Amino acid sequence: MAGRDQKNCLCCGSVKGSGITVLSSFICLDCEQEIISASFHDRKYGRFIEILKEIWSGLIIEDIPETDDAAK
Ligand SMILES: [Zn+2]
Repeated sequence: MAGRDQKNCLCCGSVKGSGITVLSSFICLDCEQEIISASFHDRKYGRFIEILKEIWSGLIIEDIPETDDAAK
């Protein structure tokens, strides 16, 4: 690695210098534009959903313990 601020795009896998970081996952500008412009009927849309799931699954979701007081 050459110390450059480049990351692997989660979507297309290519290494780009510019893009957005969503919850510590990098998406290049090209893919970001595609995601934004993708319509619900677009075949790519399903792929984007899968990518977003990957991002979500990387999150640590803390369980908030239920207390007896919360049931009231
Ligand atoms: Zn990309």
